[in-house]
Amino acid sequence: METNTENVFQTVEKAQSAVLLWQGLGYSGRAKILKSWSKELIKNIDSLAEIIAEETGKPLSDAALEVNVAINHLKWVIANSQKVLRTQSRPSGLLFANIKSKVERIPFGVVGVIGPWNYPMHTPMGSISYALGAGNVVVFKPSEYTPKIGAALAELFSLVAPSPYIFQTLGGDPQNGIDLTNSKVDKIAFTGSTKTAKKVAEACAKNLIPGVFECGGKDSALIATDADLDLAADEVLWSAMANAGQSCIGIERVYVVDNIADKFIDEISQRARKLQAGKDYGRATMPPQINVIRSHIEDAANKGGRFIVGSLDSIKETIVEPIIMVDVPENSLEVSDETFGPTLVINRVPNIETAIVLANNSKYGLGNAVYSKRQGEKIARKLESGMVSINSVFIFAGIASIPFGGIKDSGYGRIHGPEGLLEFTYAKSYVKPIFKLPLALLSFKRTKFTDNLVKRLTKLLNL
Ligand code: NAD
Repeated sequence: METNTENVFQTVEKAQSAVLLWQGLGYSGRAKILKSWSKELIKNIDSLAEIIAEETGKPLSDAALEVNVAINHLKWVIANSQKVLRTQSRPSGLLFANIKSKVERIPFGVVGVIGPWNYPMHTPMGSISYALGAGNVVVFKPSEYTPKIGAALAELFSLVAPSPYIFQTLGGDPQNGIDLTNSKVDKIAFTGSTKTAKKVAEACAKNLIPGVFECGGKDSALIATDADLDLAADEVLWSAMANAGQSCIGIERVYVVDNIADKFIDEISQRARKLQAGKDYGRATMPPQINVIRSHIEDAANKGGRFIVGSLDSIKETIVEPIIMVDVPENSLEVSDETFGPTLVINRVPNIETAIVLANNSKYGLGNAVYSKRQGEKIARKLESGMVSINSVFIFAGIASIPFGGIKDSGYGRIHGPEGLLEFTYAKSYVKPIFKLPLALLSFKRTKFTDNLVKRLTKLLNL
């Protein structure tokens, strides 16, 4: 696809021309089309997975799982948009008892979606499906590393759409993302690194374009004394290493209570040694990421961290074999910054309270995992993040009814769930008198008697 600013602006203009058509279909008309799209996606699960595997280097089975989870989200959108976004009557209060109040959810118009490469279908679909379901048209800018899967999504949509402009995909060039944020879109949904998010937010701020920002993370797992260590070792390892560690919600740090630490480290490292890079997970999708991984591991080793699995030699030209380090100082890059590789830090803590403090001592706040048979929810409540999985990992990304997103440098706003639908609409309030009150409140005819009555009512109703 050709890249130039004019093209991007024209694509957004075409999108604008389709807004009334899409909104005019109403929830049931849109649901019919989204259902047909879903059928096309289902028919093409294998070919979509092949594109993802080819573009990202992830195993085909992982790619297929990603496609399936994205389709399940779309199903939830189809079933729930109308219910979640229905117009609501609101009580007007005694002082305004003669007023009927209601709130409508209005789609923004054109939503620009900017996506990453690590889950190049599931992640942007978390914005695309929800924005379309809420009545917006979408212009999608996929990552430069995964343009084909982006194009395939829009192509399949165009087979069932009344207009090709309801959902369009741009080429992957980053300049298209810059142009999109400077175009006449009505909202931006960005998923990617915190660094780029800040640039996009700055560009949006110039025109007060609202945005939802899903950014990086440094998710931690907290392993309490009463954890099921077999389960924790199995799932934490998968979360850290699957997709070559390139998951925003992948576990990168573990805080394990001292008296069970040896056993946990033993369990997880035995499993890690059996993993085969290139089979169980693929190459680093983005070649320069290898340098980031190396710099983090070097820094951790220089500061005194010890290798339990792998070494600096595990970092090859395009692929990284599993690396697990223990006792890594908290001021290391491997603890503080997103590594995005198949590496894991395991640090011992004297008690779970210390684990909570260290987990929270991060510029990120995306997700956490907690392993404890009896204290899971209690610990989870103390964690500063958007999502916590208890005695499990990752699952919150697949459950369509709950919101997904983070705090701090992990971004703001939410995709998925009712919150994800609300994110792509704004609230519009309507008020209408249904009978006339003998008292004139909002009029120059207001009398002293009315003033006193309002004062008396306020005291009566509020004291
Ligand atoms: P990135 O920030 O490099 O790029 C993201 C997208 O922004 C790409 O499409 C890119 O072309 C585009 N882009 C680059 N510069 C731009 C600019 N100035 N203006 C507009 N768009 C621009 O991120 P990435 O490397 O593609 O993705 C990996 C990152 O995404 C990781 O940090 C990961 O944690 C994060 N991520 C977050 C979530 C989440 O939901 N929180 C999900 C997946 C990935």
